[in-house]
Amino acid sequence: MNRLQNFSQMRVRFAPSPTGPFHIGGARSALFNYLMARKYGGKLIVRIEDTDLERSSSESEENILTSLRWLGLDWDEGILVGGDYGPYRQTERLELYQKYAQQLLEEGKAYYCYCTDVELEAERKALLEQGEMVGYMGKCRNLSNRERKSLEAEGRKPTVRFRVPTEGHAVVVNDLVRGRVTFDTSTMGDYVIVKSDGIPVYNFACVIDDALMEISHVIRGEEHLSNTPRQLLLYQALGLKNPQFAHVSLILGKDRTKMSKRHGATSVTAYREAGYLPEALINFLVLLGWSPPGEEEIFSLEELIQLFSLDRVAKNPAVFDLDKLRWINGHYIRQSSIKRLVDLSIPYLQQAGIFASILTPKEQAWVELLVAAVRERLSSLSGIVQETRALLHHEAPPESEEAQAVLREEQVSTVLHCFKQKIMDLEEPLDVDRAKSLLKQVTKETKLGGRKVFMPLRVALTGKMHGAELYYLIPLLDKEGCLNRISAVLQDTCV
Ligand code: GLU
Repeated sequence: MNRLQNFSQMRVRFAPSPTGPFHIGGARSALFNYLMARKYGGKLIVRIEDTDLERSSSESEENILTSLRWLGLDWDEGILVGGDYGPYRQTERLELYQKYAQQLLEEGKAYYCYCTDVELEAERKALLEQGEMVGYMGKCRNLSNRERKSLEAEGRKPTVRFRVPTEGHAVVVNDLVRGRVTFDTSTMGDYVIVKSDGIPVYNFACVIDDALMEISHVIRGEEHLSNTPRQLLLYQALGLKNPQFAHVSLILGKDRTKMSKRHGATSVTAYREAGYLPEALINFLVLLGWSPPGEEEIFSLEELIQLFSLDRVAKNPAVFDLDKLRWINGHYIRQSSIKRLVDLSIPYLQQAGIFASILTPKEQAWVELLVAAVRERLSSLSGIVQETRALLHHEAPPESEEAQAVLREEQVSTVLHCFKQKIMDLEEPLDVDRAKSLLKQVTKETKLGGRKVFMPLRVALTGKMHGAELYYLIPLLDKEGCLNRISAVLQDTCV
């Protein structure tokens, strides 16, 4: 069965609430919408849902939009770019919502409710105590004009409640990911669509906007599935055409609870700042909920546009695996040019106070060499700071038992002495070619096999058993750094 009919003229939207830093779950929704729009030659609209006046902020809006652009997810219509269906920020559309609320009020499909928060809370508590489902009991459902007037005279400011139809007790959502989902409306209770300050709630504003913006498909997180029956009832009551829905499963942490700050960073900015590349994050996010058709897991945005389909979006939750993100990021770091990585790395080194705001040509060359040295092993760009610190320390004592054992091998003294002599004779500045020929000479002169020479040198120079190629490390440490470290080992371990 093809659940995905009629994708021509697709209009999808990403509709974030700017109430905090851009969450990776939001980024994934944006990505899925983007891929669908691009795949089917449709339009992606970005709309700001800022009707929660207390929690919305312009910093958050800016963070979301900057992050979308950083990820490479551009949009065709909406905030910042304009379009024929604007304005694209909900607080600039309040008159529209009022108009539709008025329509519902006039048709008797909505009514003013004068219950106060305190009264509603008391009702809720009483229902809970009786073990009943908690929904508004309908106290203001059928007020007479007189009753309304007298409540207004008390100074009460009404909300507008939607009158949930009593005929038929089910709403069916034909979800493109989850299939047919049926909701019982008998316990739903009439719900608020406009608050007492005249501001619409999300469920109402979202319906008006999706309809007026002619959205064809709503692709969003599963947390909104339970809002969908409420929204469908509103489409029906307003006589508006509803879009098709696709609810993408939740993102869980490794412990299988909903991904939250407890599990580590949740914002796109945090990953950007930690040195993840946008293409790595995109590649990682798409795999949270979508499974590729073959074994391959590395995809560019262009490839994803070809390959992506809602058919392969899973119903079961996706698990956020940081190791996988690091692996994917490592892949894209290895694919990147040295120049790009240098440009991206320098701010980390400046922020760590290792370099001043302007690098000397020598420092610039040093960073280039460093990046070439560590690119193979780096899983995030912020790791460059640690790599640099390790090279700038005066000493590098062996880090493990195993490394200590290497320095106790019988040939070590000969190798280190030979290396020390040769490096002292070497002309500065050291470079990769000079380091390579130096290493060759040491092997030749000591008449020892590679490992017997390179392992003690590596441990003496870095304290570690593994790492960047020696011919990079030698010029990075420079003559002085190499001599300091070799001398320290010769003093400590070799007589
Ligand atoms: N503004 C909602 C949110 O950020 C989006 C809901 C929707 O996509 O319908 O969660």
